[in-house]
Amino acid sequence: MENFEFYSPTCFAFGKETENKAGEYVKRFGGTKVLIHFGGGSAVKSGLIDRVKSSLDKEKISYTELGGVMPNPRSGLVYKGIELCKKENVDFVLAVGGGSVIDSAKAIAAGVVYDGDFWDFYQGKQIEKALSIGTVLTIAAAGSEGSPNSVITNENGMFKRGARGDALRPKFSILNPELTQTLPAYQTACGITDIMAHLYERYLTNTKEVEVTDRLIEALMLTLIHEAPRVIENPNNYDARANIMWTGTMAHNNSVGVGRSQDWNSHALEHELSALYDCAHGAGLAVTMPAVFTYQMEHDIMRFAQVANRVWGCQMDFAHPEVTAKTGIEALRNFLISIGMPRNFQELGAKKEDIPKLVDVLCNGDGRKGVISGFIDIDKDIAQKIYSLML
Ligand code: NAP
Ligand code: FE
Repeated sequence: MENFEFYSPTCFAFGKETENKAGEYVKRFGGTKVLIHFGGGSAVKSGLIDRVKSSLDKEKISYTELGGVMPNPRSGLVYKGIELCKKENVDFVLAVGGGSVIDSAKAIAAGVVYDGDFWDFYQGKQIEKALSIGTVLTIAAAGSEGSPNSVITNENGMFKRGARGDALRPKFSILNPELTQTLPAYQTACGITDIMAHLYERYLTNTKEVEVTDRLIEALMLTLIHEAPRVIENPNNYDARANIMWTGTMAHNNSVGVGRSQDWNSHALEHELSALYDCAHGAGLAVTMPAVFTYQMEHDIMRFAQVANRVWGCQMDFAHPEVTAKTGIEALRNFLISIGMPRNFQELGAKKEDIPKLVDVLCNGDGRKGVISGFIDIDKDIAQKIYSLML
């Protein structure tokens, strides 16, 4: 195990009706003027925004609001949010929504206290400070409610990049599984796929013998495999929703990633897909993961054989572990298909003729130097081969 520091200061309030405490939590963490940031309408329609406003009113905390965050959140609204916060002297950004809303809120929070262009952070500049952030989560997926990350799409070229910094970690996150019951089945499945990807990206490590982390990840994967069909069958299954929601947070606050190297190649290849085609991040991952894993398998067959055996229940073939490894990747693919996810470029709405463009932006776009690094290094030639496996 490698040396590590684990810092995860977010206060999580979990359970039914917890959104009514949003005002109390903002007060507890020092907010006096709030930006309520939300998406395209689901949180307004469900009455959630009104409940959040009432809870702020109860604490006599004033607020301004900015809705309209799109899935795969755009830089344009971030600039608008930064201006609004400066004009209104906002000192606390409250995101009410999913990963897209939370990531947009994080970008605004960092941009308000920075003199330059907020995009600098998405080109690698370290984030030192940000306004305080709180979240009311409405979809179990990205894990942004407990992560130091934010992913934004730059409209000037339509490419997606991430920024990170401990200042982006929410002060609090309110997790009421009931709020996810209004999700369409497709979005629920996209969320489950993203959580599964966050677990795989951490399972695929080049560090040997971090058994505790392997076992924790396996437990979370098994939880998803158990709960996914139950929630797809009955969207109002509170306990299934609750287990998935907490799995999503645990999968991405890095408690199951410390002390070892991680992968993130499936995410990198996916980000170019959702930037170009505006598909859901989870749907893109359902297509990239099996292809990336099939290519990466040779690098460490036993790692893939182990997850196949321990999580997917495949018979371990010690004489031919590559058979076990392959069967595990097939089991993952079948699981994703069973919850309604796309299996290839065509079902995702991606085009074969765009592969050169995808490869180019992935490896050389926006300051990259020809190679991305994860479980294996991926150069343009390898990226071309992996995207071709998705056809
Ligand atoms: P999302 O993009 O925030 O939301 C997806 C869709 O679900 C939206 O159309 C939204 O509609 C709808 N929705 C959300 N909650 C709903 C509810 N309770 N009922 C009905 N509809 C609801 O989904 P996400 O998967 O959480 O976030 C994806 C983004 O996160 C991607 O950009 C991805 O790259 C990023 N990401 C970030 C991290 C990180 O650590 N920061 C990690 C992984 C991925 P409305 O707009 O109407 O609400
Ligand atoms: Fe993700």
